[in-house]
Amino acid sequence: MMVLMNKDATEEQIQAVVEVIHSHGLKSLVLPGGERTAIGIPSAIPPSLRPVLDETLSAMDGVDQVIHITRPYKLASRSFHPQPTEIRIGDVRIGNGHFVVMAGPCAVESYEQLREAALAVKQAGAQILRAGAYKPRTSPYSFQGLQREGLEILRVVAEEVGILTISEVIDPHDVEMVAEYVDILQIGARSMQNFPLLVAAGRSGKPVLLKRAPSATIDEWLASAEYLLTQGNEQVMLCERGIVPIDRTYARNTLDINAVPIIKHNSHLPIIVDPSHGIGHARYVPAVALAAVAAGADGLLIEVHPHPERALSDGAQSLTPAAFAQLMAQIVAVRNALAPATSK
Ligand code: PEP
Ligand code: MN
Repeated sequence: MMVLMNKDATEEQIQAVVEVIHSHGLKSLVLPGGERTAIGIPSAIPPSLRPVLDETLSAMDGVDQVIHITRPYKLASRSFHPQPTEIRIGDVRIGNGHFVVMAGPCAVESYEQLREAALAVKQAGAQILRAGAYKPRTSPYSFQGLQREGLEILRVVAEEVGILTISEVIDPHDVEMVAEYVDILQIGARSMQNFPLLVAAGRSGKPVLLKRAPSATIDEWLASAEYLLTQGNEQVMLCERGIVPIDRTYARNTLDINAVPIIKHNSHLPIIVDPSHGIGHARYVPAVALAAVAAGADGLLIEVHPHPERALSDGAQSLTPAAFAQLMAQIVAVRNALAPATSK
């Protein structure tokens, strides 16, 4: 259950609602929004109490409506927040018609590698440099990333080249530290339901890109976004990166293109698509990247490596700078073909 306050509700009115909730032995979660405050009740409410509570709260001063939550998320929903969210980082805007490309290597490997990649992606028109310093690898024997040293390199290169950055954080205890180095925190597919990590990222005040876990439903994914939003962080974007495939003979995952219009209809959060992990082979990446643009994605996250054959992780799916530049030109062409519907 959630209590939605009027836009001009006072602090006293909010407090009075909280006290009524507590008087029934329930917990409350005050969620100050851009426009109005919502008060969630994260406790299990006994069925006999529901109608009483509904009636009492609905009649209180400052209360707009009492909502019975049938989906596992509310703040992430379009019905709660009809306007599309627009994220602003420096001069870059994401969502609400603003399209962004985040590109770079899977992992920071060295200063030289990252600088070469950063110059190439920036030159081709990417606004954000992606590169992992903490790599969640299936095998503990695989390259785990340069970790703190990788973040140092990322920051130096970003400043030299003049580009924003995104990098993954995998440990809740590292969130504050990683947030000092990057502009956007990436929550990886394997961490989508690491709830302490979501809470920490929500509290960081940094924009967060939340990847969909390979087996997660849309509702589970949006419920994870809800963990970020309930901490007061409104700068949340979602990233579709492929779900479990029927077989892996031809593709690493199955990019769920359906997720793009479904998220746009059911949520106000920007939806970014990662075709690199979605299909897993560089030769197919441009085709699905363009499909995502045509489907209405708010941005793309693409792996680009100056020398894919030497990459320490995900070389097979990394575009060369030349292939990326060609794709960027095609992205512009697709977006222009769709204009004016999406032009910003
Ligand atoms: C990545 O972006 O390099 C990554 C590890 O992605 P995912 O979490 O989608 O597997
Ligand atoms: Mn990768």
